[in-house]
Amino acid sequence: MEKIGGVPVCPGVALGELYVWERAPAPPAAEGGGPARELERLLRARDRAEEILEEQYRLALSRLGQDEADIFRLHRMMLEDPDFWAAARGPVESGQAGARAAALAAGETFARQLRALEDPYLRARADDVAEAARLLAAQLDGGEAPLTLPGPVILAADALDPGELLTLDRDKVLGLALGRAAPSGHWAILARAMGLPAVTGVEIAPTWSGRQAGLDGETGELWLEPDGETRGRLQARGLARAETAAAQALAARAPAVTRSGKQIEVCANIGKPEEAAQALAQGADGVGLFRTEFLCLGRADCPGEEEQFLACRWAAQAMEGRRVTIRTLDLGGDKRTPWLPPEEGENPALGLRGVRLTLARPDLFVPQLRAILRAAAFGKLAVMFPMVTSPEEVDRARALLDQCRARLEAEGVPAGPLEVGVMVETPAAALLAHKLARRVDFFSIGTNDLTQYTLAADRQSPALAGLWDQRNPAVWELIARTAQAGKAAGIRVAVCGQLAADREMTGRLLEAGVDELSVPPADVPAVKARVRELD
Ligand code: PEP
Ligand code: MG
Repeated sequence: MEKIGGVPVCPGVALGELYVWERAPAPPAAEGGGPARELERLLRARDRAEEILEEQYRLALSRLGQDEADIFRLHRMMLEDPDFWAAARGPVESGQAGARAAALAAGETFARQLRALEDPYLRARADDVAEAARLLAAQLDGGEAPLTLPGPVILAADALDPGELLTLDRDKVLGLALGRAAPSGHWAILARAMGLPAVTGVEIAPTWSGRQAGLDGETGELWLEPDGETRGRLQARGLARAETAAAQALAARAPAVTRSGKQIEVCANIGKPEEAAQALAQGADGVGLFRTEFLCLGRADCPGEEEQFLACRWAAQAMEGRRVTIRTLDLGGDKRTPWLPPEEGENPALGLRGVRLTLARPDLFVPQLRAILRAAAFGKLAVMFPMVTSPEEVDRARALLDQCRARLEAEGVPAGPLEVGVMVETPAAALLAHKLARRVDFFSIGTNDLTQYTLAADRQSPALAGLWDQRNPAVWELIARTAQAGKAAGIRVAVCGQLAADREMTGRLLEAGVDELSVPPADVPAVKARVRELD
């Protein structure tokens, strides 16, 4: 047995086989096409890197939470920084350097400057710049191969970028032993949110792969070939932690009731059916938003009726009788897929997206509605339509849903009951909420888009982050109107945008009459705890 001291980062213990991972060296530079060609490559790589960061932002938001997702926004901001971009582009334009060398050099220069600053926050941003530059450079070589693990292992690596960590298969990683990664780095925030025991500051040898190890994230210790006594001790600690977590999960499963006795449903937002199990483990009372477009992103074709049926049934069954609200495809705008024709027009956020797109494309809408109706025979499902701006859109979508039900019946295919709702995420929908309320069983207020459209502030633009403010009084006015209209019509009012997880605003939302809050799974326990504190 060999004991190696490291720096503790994330609590928890792991016992298992080590797997040492090294980032593959960049292939030989394919540079030499001249400055114009290199500049074009650099621009294309930047577009791709930004796309990846946006995907990672959404993934982190759906799986982990806002703080974790913001890491990817920050990286995007780094890439968009005019000074960084000038430093990367200048040497390429003048022919002094190829695209990859220039991207990496700009990252190194900025990281060095940041490391020399006194402010610890700014100093810590050095890693972000280097990581963003590395992502950019990797796109010049056709992108990085994903980090895949052979099975459940303790992953040993010099350092991990946030994107590498986020996209790891969580079931295959028992713990992390890192070499040079800073304990305060963004990777640590992600590892904690993912519940991964982790240590850093360990001198890793490539020969470790395949050896047995034990790791204690609380003390920072790593054991190679731990003896029986050490194993027993680690197992006992692991068991004690699991018992505490189980007790907490049990408490989280209890309903969230205010002091005055009103029960608020605290549900989870998910993007894939497998995330339902996590939602349940966190104590979610249901799924308030299943973003089905996640089933479509990053693939060459649209999933067919059968695949969507299986995904919806999976989520419904995993939630063990709790309600799962399925949002129909919210594609278009910033949610592009390779199989959708490119958006026409200058402003895709105001284009053919959400229910507008699905109403215009029955070839997409009908299979999805059929899939949802069929899955409703296996659990408690609700369906809702995104980006609604008029009562007519709701009427048309409902009519199509009725046709699909009739057709299934004629075919002898079982379909279950469904609540039908709309997302209120455009000012038009909020202003017409009294008319919409008569047509549906519930509202779900999408404060992310509602904020974007009310304040005319692109939700994706880091430069407008200060303007895009869900607490803005104009946004509140629309939320209050919507809730009032919902209450007057006697229908359920939910909030599923980021505001639902803002615990400083929970009281105001409940005062407005909101019955349900739907938040990233990891936020469920804290939001439930907040509800229990309120009158
Ligand atoms: C919203 O707009 O608030 C919402 C929940 O939907 P999305 O973030 O997926 O657009
Ligand atoms: Mg939205």
